[in-house]
Amino acid sequence: MTDSTEHASATADLPTEFSEIEMRCPPCNAVWSAPVVRRVNVRTHPDARLGILLGTIHWTRCPVCKQPRAIETIFEYFDPEQRLLVQVRPEWEYHAGGGEDWYWARYEDLVLKYQDVDIRVDVVFGLHQLIEKWLGGEEAIRRAREEWEIRRQKEGNR
Ligand SMILES: [Zn+2]
Repeated sequence: MTDSTEHASATADLPTEFSEIEMRCPPCNAVWSAPVVRRVNVRTHPDARLGILLGTIHWTRCPVCKQPRAIETIFEYFDPEQRLLVQVRPEWEYHAGGGEDWYWARYEDLVLKYQDVDIRVDVVFGLHQLIEKWLGGEEAIRRAREEWEIRRQKEGNR
């Protein structure tokens, strides 16, 4: 499964990085640690792309009341084939934080962060915007659902 030598090229290859975030469930006051992705390389972790398209990425469940809870986090989507890195921020930020000015400020930060890496960067607010702008929109969502359905049938009730 290691293809690092095969794909060794001039293309920048930023690795996937995971982290953990502390979650709290207000009704039952439970606190737990949920895994989050800080940066995802969709060549090494193609399922993350599927998770984005299906809207299943960054959800967790309260260990006490079992309520699903969305994890609000900022992460980076990296596609080495397109040499594209997109920072995904919470959707509300754009409306609450100054619109276009906020976008350009965050964009400039990201350009600086990756100034030594040969990639294009962008900033989006919310998964929906990421999908519309960079992943192929509704058509990509439809294909992801099909792919997921096929995989589910293959795997049976594993
Ligand atoms: Zn709970």
